Amino acid sequence: MAQTIVSKRVVQELDITALRKQLPSSTVLAPSDAGYSRTIERWSRAAEKPAGVAILPTTAEEIAAAVKYASHQGIDVAVKGGGHSTAGASSTNGGLLIDLAKMRRVTVDAVKQQLHVQGGCLWADVDEAAWEHGLATVGGTVADTGVGGLTLGGGYGVLSGERGLVIDNMVEATVVLANGEIKTASKDQNADLFWALLGSGQNFGVTTEFVLQAYPQKDMFYGTMVFLPIPENMTKLVKAVNDLFSVPEGGRSKSEGRGMGLLGMAKPPDAGGTTVILFIASLNASEAEGRKLLQPFVDVGPIVNTLTCGPYPDVNKQVPAVIGMRSSMKGAAFVLPIREEFVTEMLGKYNDFNEQCDDAAASLVAWELYGTCISSCERQCADCRLLPRSYDPSKVAKSDIGCFANRGYHLNSLIMPMWSKPENDQQCRQWAREMSLMFKHELEAHGQRTSNGIEGGASVRGHKGGVGIYGNYDQYDEISRDIFGSNYPQLQKLKAKYDPTNVFNKLFPITPEAKSTL
Ligand SMILES: Cc1cc2nc3c(=O)[nH]c(=O)nc-3n(C[C@H](O)[C@H](O)[C@H](O)COP(=O)(O)OP(=O)(O)OC[C@H]3O[C@@H](n4cnc5c(N)ncnc54)[C@H](O)[C@@H]3O)c2cc1C
Repeated sequence: MAQTIVSKRVVQELDITALRKQLPSSTVLAPSDAGYSRTIERWSRAAEKPAGVAILPTTAEEIAAAVKYASHQGIDVAVKGGGHSTAGASSTNGGLLIDLAKMRRVTVDAVKQQLHVQGGCLWADVDEAAWEHGLATVGGTVADTGVGGLTLGGGYGVLSGERGLVIDNMVEATVVLANGEIKTASKDQNADLFWALLGSGQNFGVTTEFVLQAYPQKDMFYGTMVFLPIPENMTKLVKAVNDLFSVPEGGRSKSEGRGMGLLGMAKPPDAGGTTVILFIASLNASEAEGRKLLQPFVDVGPIVNTLTCGPYPDVNKQVPAVIGMRSSMKGAAFVLPIREEFVTEMLGKYNDFNEQCDDAAASLVAWELYGTCISSCERQCADCRLLPRSYDPSKVAKSDIGCFANRGYHLNSLIMPMWSKPENDQQCRQWAREMSLMFKHELEAHGQRTSNGIEGGASVRGHKGGVGIYGNYDQYDEISRDIFGSNYPQLQKLKAKYDPTNVFNKLFPITPEAKSTL
């Protein structure tokens, strides 16, 4: 992971005593205490580090007291939401861990259709509370992922094609700043802080509550189809994907505003050691509409087909939350149409890797697809009109809000090695780098620019310049400038204002501007 070196000290015995005194109603756990080992567990075992002390607060005020203490003492601080960062961004080597696991309340304002979500919630908490009122918001596709990290880094979900990113639906946030102040941020209050939270929130404080806009939601049509990777299937499958998600000349894609699909390759344990191709559908459609849209996939002849109609919370539980392995994430971007030869080439590399490393059978390569339409850019400038009609992520690219810098005419792909032995860490990460590079070369073959950072990258839009890197998926090698693109200098100014000593520095850290002009 790219990281500015920030020298902070580790926790000593006297700090634990002081914190216990200052936080009489919080759980404060030293390494020898029962419950400590649970707080340092992460979704990826490779992301775990031994904190010097862990606190499990229940209020913003307790967090404020702890942050203030750590700031004054120069102690390293990590904040844990759902613990899914594969880079160890919610862990600390010897510092203070603020574990938000006891802050998982969701309150539904049914009149405003807004969800008040505490900073330690998982998406399952949100999905289920909203569903009781017939509502849903954009959220993680795997229900045990944390709201905190996913939201503060942007957030894509099955409703993104219709409703944009999670941050596009964030109305307000309550944040504990580095100096211990508790601030409300929204477009009307502390608007500069709100802008920074929408894409780089982990760098600006501890968000203790998110207010998210929700929408009436019906049952969805969803499920997984599993295919054998024989050439005949590959041809039909790639065609079915391109037909469903691409935008035809002058038209709208068949899947516009209809949810999400994921094309992937994996070696699930119940496939008996065979690599298979998966298509996971999450369609905002009735059963009849869904079956019609997915008929071309069914015609390919899946060996497993779980398509069914069901509640939104179940849609986000269809991918199993594999816990207890080592894993890392490496993102990439792609545009439609997907080339069959490219998928076949990736399949070859996937199989080669599995032959070289018999510990990594659970690894995944995926192309994420959203229902699309053309003409989402309201400005209709010449640059937009000249772009190939590949992917117009509609609501994702339409908005300009926040510092999130990956809005553009491209989709996200993901390489996620999963393994169990620490000695395979480097090999697995190197494989992910190589696969990511292949995606990059494929983009270039599609005529897309792929330079990163300030210059903008894949699928540059004339006036926006999406960087082509989703920070929540790219948690090693990339540097902050790559992730925040042309927004980085403004973030440096805001960092100098809100966190000048860089207390919050664990994921794509921002170097505060030397002298703030704000
Ligand atoms: C199985 C799996 C499925 C995923 N699915 C999706 C998906 O559908 N869509 C998507 O966009 N991404 C997805 N991701 C990526 C996900 O967005 C990141 O892994 C994200 O970091 C997870 O957030 P977390 O709170 O669980 O992680 P954590 O490791 O707890 O936190 C990640 C970062 O956010 C900070 N943070 C967390 N909570 C707070 C808070 N309340 N206040 C301040 N800082 C906080 C942490 O300090 C850390 O820097 C997925 C990841 C995994 C492993």
